[in-house]
Amino acid sequence: MHDPRFPPRVVYHKRFLLCWGLWLFLGKLGSRRALDSRFDTDGPELLANLNRLADTEQDSRPVNKTLEYFLRRSGSEPLAGLQQQCVDRLIRMKALNRARLQGDWLVLIDGSGYLVFHYKHCAHCLIQQHGEHTLYMHQVLEAKLLGPGGTVFSIATEFIDNRDAQDTPAGASAEQLKQDCELKALPRLLAKVRVVFPQLPICLGGDSLFACGPGLQAAQDYHCDYLYVFKPGRTPALWQDFQGLLQLCPDQRVELLTPQEAHHLYRWVNGLDYQDSAGRRWTFNALYCQETKKNGEHSEWAWVTPLALNRATVQEVAKGGRERWREENEGFNTQKNGGLNLEHAYSHKCWAAYYYLLQLAHLLLQLLEKGSLLRQLAQGQGKRTAVALFGSIQGMAVRLVESLRYWHWPDEAFDAAAAGKIQVRLNSS
Ligand SMILES: [Zn+2]
Repeated sequence: MHDPRFPPRVVYHKRFLLCWGLWLFLGKLGSRRALDSRFDTDGPELLANLNRLADTEQDSRPVNKTLEYFLRRSGSEPLAGLQQQCVDRLIRMKALNRARLQGDWLVLIDGSGYLVFHYKHCAHCLIQQHGEHTLYMHQVLEAKLLGPGGTVFSIATEFIDNRDAQDTPAGASAEQLKQDCELKALPRLLAKVRVVFPQLPICLGGDSLFACGPGLQAAQDYHCDYLYVFKPGRTPALWQDFQGLLQLCPDQRVELLTPQEAHHLYRWVNGLDYQDSAGRRWTFNALYCQETKKNGEHSEWAWVTPLALNRATVQEVAKGGRERWREENEGFNTQKNGGLNLEHAYSHKCWAAYYYLLQLAHLLLQLLEKGSLLRQLAQGQGKRTAVALFGSIQGMAVRLVESLRYWHWPDEAFDAAAAGKIQVRLNSS
């Protein structure tokens, strides 16, 4: 007889547990415990569907602690590698080609807060004082490859902690702390990118924080072009040089009216010289762009870049620079507010592993949410977009989880040969 005090030991295949973990984010469940409550025995097809997705034969479901145990054992690095392999595959399939800028891949560099605690969570927390409250935080610096249709795919992550802040004076502002840490983490981030993508032609898109000696040096060391935001306040003398040179070349000017009747003005200077605070000399080009919309709304941008600037290229380069803002909207914001719950502490120990799981799920979700397959389905039902068909992005996640639990996914759906003939196109609008 089986002794009920010692339940039989179940061994889960790592593919199954990976799949289980991905569904935490694919289904936008919001917390680890929701895996237990949402993926319970009421879903008659859940186990069969997951088994076929993972190509396993489990006969029971794990609980969220099983996932935690698995991730503690496996660590976060294999998941980071898997994420990079997925993006590499998309690049090799030429699925993302339309987003290239002068032959380069635009790789957006941006930092974000990740975890915030009200207690000291580990020996490496960044510490910030907010009035009477002390916050203990972890931050990340991301390299995200820009794809077509507003897609962004993480290709490397560098976690920032108090070891990056050791040179920052204790009384420095939160913004100063963030900047110091991000500049310091940039070379480490690019080193990771180059391990996996040694030959990829890359143009780094970054904010004005990087338009300085360390940011230029990192780009040079790792063979990257760059398109860094150029702000008067960041490098005032350089900005004055730029303004002076612009007056000397009045012909370097393009004006046009877009199909939306926005007026665009481009001005540029080639061969701007800059000496950084460490005495290194740099030469690059600078581009200024001004937009006045039909409703009078006015905005302006400027960048420094080694990319060729002339009549034929300025519009494309400026468009690439403006894409940078997408990472804020499409990347971190979606991951924080779009149901993926980025800032939630999924685990106090293996938070890095959950971070990469989230990135992997976000890659898959973008192919689903922004790809042509659901759009075609929606249009077949008389709706313009997939979001319109399902009511909201969150509604899509709810339907996806319901489908996983209650609908026996047809065997054709798992036929790799048939799937190979299906093309997912990314929306370019
Ligand atoms: Zn910590």
